[in-house]
Amino acid sequence: MSDTRIVVSARAFKCEPWLLENGNPDRMRPVPGTWTLAPANLRERGVHGVLCCPNCNQCALIRADMGKLENGTCTLKGFSCAKCGFLCDARLQDWDKRKLFCVAYETSEIRDGKLIVHPHKEHLHAVSEAEARFFFEQSHLNIRYNIVGVAVVLGFFQRSEKDDTVLYADGPPPAPAA
Ligand SMILES: [Zn+2]
Repeated sequence: MSDTRIVVSARAFKCEPWLLENGNPDRMRPVPGTWTLAPANLRERGVHGVLCCPNCNQCALIRADMGKLENGTCTLKGFSCAKCGFLCDARLQDWDKRKLFCVAYETSEIRDGKLIVHPHKEHLHAVSEAEARFFFEQSHLNIRYNIVGVAVVLGFFQRSEKDDTVLYADGPPPAPAA
């Protein structure tokens, strides 16, 4: 018996904005061989992107949890078009545009009549500083805190107004000038 093997080749799909007819998200004009971010009504249902078959223009809804994410690219192994059967390992570029943010914040307590400030840092993924702030606030509803700064993790730092503590978003503090 001969060994039959199906060779599936990888194909990159760029992320591109698609035109909306009359601004209607239900009437997108797909660009074959690309994918685009799903409209809000689909994203609410867990669909992250819409992919357009390079062969027949059929669109496929891709859920956020499908495929394997690596360096922002989502790979769908053995993706097959429902209409024409076009088969490939689809590599959806820029699937995850989020960046790593650091929120520098402090909590405080009164001990022996003195204000004690505790500095903290927390890292999270978001697309923007505003979103990082929002995610942080949503996950810290039950504690009192003061946000000192929010920044992309690139070596940012900011000084606390209260006690001169420097709260670093990333990396060690710069060496003091000799
Ligand atoms: Zn197709």
